[in-house]
Amino acid sequence: MSTFKEMGLNPEILSAIEELGYENPTQIQELAIPKILDSRQDLIAFAQTGTGKTAAFGLPILNKIDPSKKGIKCIILSPTRELGLQIAEDIKTYSKNMKGFKVVPVYGGADIVSQIKKLERGCDIVVGTPGRTLDLIKRNRLDLEGVEFLVLDEADEMLSMGFAEDLDAILANTPATKQTLLFSATMPPDMVKLSKKYMTDPVEISAGSKQEANLNVTHQYYKINSRDRYPALKRAVDYAPDIYGIIFCRTRAETKEVAERLAEDGYNTDALHGDLSQAQRDYVMNRFRNRQLQLLIATDVAARGLDVSELTHVINYKLPDEDAVYVHRSGRTGRAGNEGLSITLLTAKETGRLRYLERKIGRKFEQVDIPNGQEICQKQLFSMIDNIKETEIANSHIESFLPQIFEKFEDMTKEEVIKKIVSAEFNKFLEYYRDAPDLNKTSDRRERDRNRDRDDRGGDRRDRGERRDDRRDRGERGERREHKTASNMTRYFVNQGKKDGFSPKLLMGMINSHLGGATPEIGQIEIMKMFSFFEMESGHTSDLQRAAKDMEFNGREVSIEESSPKPSGAGRDRGSRRGDGDRDRRDDRRDGGYRGGRDKDSGGFRGGSKRSSGSHGAKRRTRR
Ligand code: AMP
Repeated sequence: MSTFKEMGLNPEILSAIEELGYENPTQIQELAIPKILDSRQDLIAFAQTGTGKTAAFGLPILNKIDPSKKGIKCIILSPTRELGLQIAEDIKTYSKNMKGFKVVPVYGGADIVSQIKKLERGCDIVVGTPGRTLDLIKRNRLDLEGVEFLVLDEADEMLSMGFAEDLDAILANTPATKQTLLFSATMPPDMVKLSKKYMTDPVEISAGSKQEANLNVTHQYYKINSRDRYPALKRAVDYAPDIYGIIFCRTRAETKEVAERLAEDGYNTDALHGDLSQAQRDYVMNRFRNRQLQLLIATDVAARGLDVSELTHVINYKLPDEDAVYVHRSGRTGRAGNEGLSITLLTAKETGRLRYLERKIGRKFEQVDIPNGQEICQKQLFSMIDNIKETEIANSHIESFLPQIFEKFEDMTKEEVIKKIVSAEFNKFLEYYRDAPDLNKTSDRRERDRNRDRDDRGGDRRDRGERRDDRRDRGERGERREHKTASNMTRYFVNQGKKDGFSPKLLMGMINSHLGGATPEIGQIEIMKMFSFFEMESGHTSDLQRAAKDMEFNGREVSIEESSPKPSGAGRDRGSRRGDGDRDRRDDRRDGGYRGGRDKDSGGFRGGSKRSSGSHGAKRRTRR
């Protein structure tokens, strides 16, 4: 293997990459850098994100560019704004010791005037998304007549995103003398056409086979019944207490639904899909990058350009149709020398697709059992204990309290204290998983029926239409008493949601105008898509329900019902029963509500002041 120095890179570039800690070239760099440095031949390189491809084309281009020459010398096209910005940032870092060198990113969804101003000030390299690049060319603000290098990064993605015509138009504005470098994970037929049309006698290089999956990634699958997809997803997540991962869905609607259900169940998550504005996408991505979110639910297109190296998991809620997409998804974990895990939720019908995929990507998928309640509890419990052991003791802060604390525990043994602490943290979690059914798909019908019986005992009678009976049963067992929250608040369900234009302000207004002068304290308000929850000081249920009879919103009668308390800490929300079709769909109590505990941003409108219409629960949900 040759070093960067032996490749002949100049000292300014060598010192910059040394500072970055790059010791040896990656495989794609070893292949691409000498080719680009030593010839003007066009190049097709098969490499995925995460292989070091930006430096593979960036370093030799920087080496060959003369910043003292005027005009744009290189245009790099990338499918998304995020990837474009990342490339521009990397190029800036690699060129930081090159005097007078400038790179300008141009992309849609941002002010074009400030981008034009930057271009007018002059630069050496432009990194652009196809749409904005073409727009600037058409406005005569981007002159590519003098470019020596054209890079098409993630060319397959640009084509699959429908940029073929834009690319045609951009390439028509570049000189025939340029060197064209095309980087792609796959070679779809459209790209063969493109390369034939615009490249001259290109040399092909490949870091691994064209669709080879990352070797650091273990590919597992759970065999599920299709109705268990969501509970199985939760098992996968719960079995990995320190998970930091992306859950891939196939459609926007599925993405929204899964994200909403997970958020409702207390997971620290948000969604990334095509219905979000650029500002919303940035917000979600930043929170995920900063680890304020533990899980991101995303479509393939929306997750493009999101570069996070330390993902522990990728979960395929459903398999994608294209092999390359699976390779992309799973390649997001197992980066930078880390081990990664890609878990797929697979129904019997989808097995054929999996076998085909195995052959195409040259990797075996390992079938693993869906973890049961006992296994999950054990994992969570020991993770908690490890966390306690690793916690640094803030001596100065707790010192003054210690004598009193020790005094309080005086009559207990060490074992008793440990049992109490673990139970305080964990009872709700253990309780939640106590009767959890086996979700593993089994071909034995009787076995499955036995599992179903256990499910029913666990709370889900939806499938057998026994919801009403269940409600009555619970009433007879006196479970309604549990509906009162610790702070003497009762939680209510209301049949109006974001889709109806419902908001905390409207809710407060309705209550104010219908409760005839009473001023009960209001707690947390959560506005969901189809319905909402709110907490109100206990003792007003009949007033509220009487008032609800007169309430109408957007021509629809308002219905208010008592609901179960929201799960808090390591709790679960088994008792929640709701009353319309949409709610039934969500109310999958096979694996009901979940604790959160780790949600750093659960927001929450706490009713400290009466009738305030301040922010409502779970800020992140308002973004969908
Ligand atoms: P890329 O495929 O260009 O997105 O690069 C993936 C990650 O690998 C980035 O964080 C780069 O900074 C890093 N990287 C690129 N080349 C090297 C190298 N030779 N040694 C170590 N890290 C590298």
